[in-house]
Amino acid sequence: MAKLYFYYAAMNAGKTTTLLQSSYNYCERGMDTLLFTPIIDDRYGEGKIASRIGLANDAIPFDRSFNFFDYISKVQKEMPKLRCILIDEAQFMTKDQVLQSAEVVDHLKLPVLTYGLRTDFLGETFEGSRYLLSWAEELIEIKTICHCGSKATMNARIDEKGKIVRQGEQIEIGGNDRYIALCRKHFISGTVGAE
Ligand SMILES: [Zn+2]
Repeated sequence: MAKLYFYYAAMNAGKTTTLLQSSYNYCERGMDTLLFTPIIDDRYGEGKIASRIGLANDAIPFDRSFNFFDYISKVQKEMPKLRCILIDEAQFMTKDQVLQSAEVVDHLKLPVLTYGLRTDFLGETFEGSRYLLSWAEELIEIKTICHCGSKATMNARIDEKGKIVRQGEQIEIGGNDRYIALCRKHFISGTVGAE
């Protein structure tokens, strides 16, 4: 039975690598997948999903007005072997888009696997993650660790000097150099590296 999955984690835990591996597993068995990535994230060029360890795949870009249900229900008719939908950076989905992805599961009978951050640099949920945490049947944590060795659950934004940033816009795209995964204790204390 198809389900809506939310694979959540802190920064740099390997979410994208996991997504690309899952897609590969379907394709290896002769099944087709559709990959989506938000336009907001152009680190690797629009319409591409790339992981830090070198894997990459083409993806369909979506913005805040994109309708997942309408798009996938059309494409499904031309793709008889379509078996799985995968969405990267799913924290950037809107509430409506999370509901559309649930409709894809319920009415088109396709599993939807979403991958994203649970919280922003202030510890607040993103719109997409808030509704995925509420609506997905399956919540799977992809684990990573803080510099102290404890589980990292928070994402700190750092400035050019490596100091933690406590104010600013929720969305400021950056890779490893602007964000760091920390345990809650070190997120609260603002300790971004080993002492
Ligand atoms: Zn720590």
